[in-house]
Amino acid sequence: TRQAETHGFQTEVKQLLHLMIHSLYSNKEIFLRELVSNASDAADKLRFKALSDSSLLADDAELYVRVSADKDAGTITISDNGIGMTRDEVMANLGTIAKSGTADFFSQLSGDQAKDSRLIGQFGVGFYSAFIVADSVTVRTRAAGADSAVEWFSRGEGEYELRNIDKAKRGTDIILHLRDDANEYLDEWRLKSIITKYSDHLSIPVQMPKRDDDNKQDGWEAVNSGQALWTREKSEISDEEYKEFYKTIAHDFDEPLLWSHNKVEGTSEYTSLLYIPKRAPWDLWNRDNQTGIKLYVKRVFIMDDAKQLMPTYLRFVRGLMDSSDLPLNVSREILQDNKITRSMRNGSTKKILSMLSKLAKDDPEKYQEFWNTFGTVLKEGPAEDHGNQETIASLLRFASTHEDNSEATVSLDAYLERMPEKQEKIYYIVADSYEAARDNPALEIFRKKGIEVLLLSERIDEWLMSHLTEYKGKAFQSVTRGDLDLGELDDAETKKQHEESEKAFKKQLKRFEKALGDSVKTVRVTHRLTDSPACIVTDENDMSTQMAKLMEAAGQ
Ligand code: ADP
Ligand code: MG
Repeated sequence: TRQAETHGFQTEVKQLLHLMIHSLYSNKEIFLRELVSNASDAADKLRFKALSDSSLLADDAELYVRVSADKDAGTITISDNGIGMTRDEVMANLGTIAKSGTADFFSQLSGDQAKDSRLIGQFGVGFYSAFIVADSVTVRTRAAGADSAVEWFSRGEGEYELRNIDKAKRGTDIILHLRDDANEYLDEWRLKSIITKYSDHLSIPVQMPKRDDDNKQDGWEAVNSGQALWTREKSEISDEEYKEFYKTIAHDFDEPLLWSHNKVEGTSEYTSLLYIPKRAPWDLWNRDNQTGIKLYVKRVFIMDDAKQLMPTYLRFVRGLMDSSDLPLNVSREILQDNKITRSMRNGSTKKILSMLSKLAKDDPEKYQEFWNTFGTVLKEGPAEDHGNQETIASLLRFASTHEDNSEATVSLDAYLERMPEKQEKIYYIVADSYEAARDNPALEIFRKKGIEVLLLSERIDEWLMSHLTEYKGKAFQSVTRGDLDLGELDDAETKKQHEESEKAFKKQLKRFEKALGDSVKTVRVTHRLTDSPACIVTDENDMSTQMAKLMEAAGQ
C-alpha cells in the first residue's frame, strides 16, 4: 500500500461539518440529492470539455451515475464516469470551501437551529452533506485524461487522508460508511424513492442494480425518467415536479413563491424556467454574488451563474435558460456582449415583471409578501433598467400619509386614483426612518389640504427617487425641496396673502440670514408650515440631505 498523507480541513469546513450534522438531522436524505447532483455535474463538465477534445470520452462515452448499497459492509456507493478530479482538485474541492461570500455566510449564522439549517441549505450543503449519514467517507477518483488516481478518506473530524491508488476507469466513486442510525438507506427501495423524488429530471441516467427473480443483480437499470424537466411539455409537468426541481437547483428547503416555464421562439429560440423564491437568499445583499441563473445550450450545461442573463435588480430570481442559438463553446466574454444573450435577458426580464404584475393584481396579499422580502432589491430597478421603468414603478409599494402605517403597501396607481383632479404632482418625502418622515413639519400643509404624501425611509430611496422622475405623466416632487409650489391647489386668494406676508417679513429674513451666516444658503418665508415655526429644506438642484449623508457614508 502507498503512503497516506494527512491534511487538515480549512476551519470553515470544520464549522460547516459540525453545523450540518447537527442542524440537518431531520433532513438527512438530501445527502443523496447532493451527491447524485455532483455526479451529474461531473458528467456535464466532461461533456462540455469533450466538445473541444473528444478523446476525453475515450471508449466510455455513455455517461451514467450508479447508486448501490452493500448491506453487509454497511455502505452506499455513488459512482460516476464523469470528469473526475486530480489530486490538486481533490484538495481544493474536498478540503476547503472556495465559494465567495463564505465569511459573510458564517457571520449570518445565529445559533437558532431552524434558521441556520435553512441558511445552510441555501449556502449549498454539497459534498459535505455525506457526513450527515456517514461516519466516514471514501472518495476514489481519476480525472479524465489522467493516468493516476487518488483516494480521499475522512471521518469528518478535522482532517482527511490522501493516497495515490490504481483506478481502472475515469470518474469518481463515493463510498459512504453509514452511521448506525442511518441504516435505513441501505434499502434499495428507499434509495430509489429518494432518487425519483429529487433526481428524476436529471438528463443523465441514474442507475441502480437490476434484480432478477432470485434477487440477484443482473446488470444495471435507470431509475429516473432521464429527461431534463424543462424540455418536457408544460401540461405534462405537475406542480409537485416543478417544486422539487426548484428545491434542487435553488438549494432551498422551501417551496418557490411562483414560477414560469416558457418556450420562446422568434428572433431567438430558448426555453426558460424561472422561479421567484419565498425567502431571501442569504447573499441577497451581495450584488456581485449573483448565482441565480444556469445557462444551458441545447441541453448541455454551460455555466452556473450567468449574470448576463438577468439584471442585477432581479438577482433573487432562480432558474435556468436553455438556448438553441448560442454556440456550445460560449465563454463569459462572448456572453457579455451578444445579441442572443441580450434578447434572452430582455425577454426574461419582461417575463418576470409581468409575472409580478399579474401576482399584484390577482393576489395582492401574496404580492405583499413578495414585496416585503424583495422590494428593496426591486427598487434598484428604475435606475438600472430605463426601458422597463414604468412597469417597475407600478410594482413599487410605499408607506404613505393615507395609510398611517409603516408597512409599504401603497402603489403609485392607488395614489393616482386618490389624487384630486387639480393635483399635478406625486408628492413624497425621504427621511431616515418612517417616523422621521411621518413627523416632518413639511407635511403639515399637505395634511391640512388632504393631499397624500409618500413616506420613504429606506437607504436606497434617495437613489430610487433620483432616477424616477415621473409616473404616468405625473412628476415626482419632494416636499422638502426648494420653493414648494402647490400649483393649482392654491387659490388666488391664498396666493395674494402669501405675497403680502413675504413682503412683511423681509426685514426679519435679513436678520436671520446675517445671524446664521455661512451655514445656510438663504432664509425665506414659507407657507407650508401650519404648526411648526421653521424647517430646513434643500435647494431644488442641490443634493438632498439624505443623499449627502449617503455620499458621506460612502466616503465621498
Ligand atoms: P458544488 O457542487 O456546489 O460546487 P459541492 O460541495 O457539492 O459544491 O462539491 C464541491 C466540488 O467538488 C464540486 O464543485 C466539484 O468540483 C467537486 N466534486 C464533487 N463531487 C464530484 C464528482 N462526483 N466528480 C467530480 N468532481 C466532484
Ligand atoms: Mg454540489
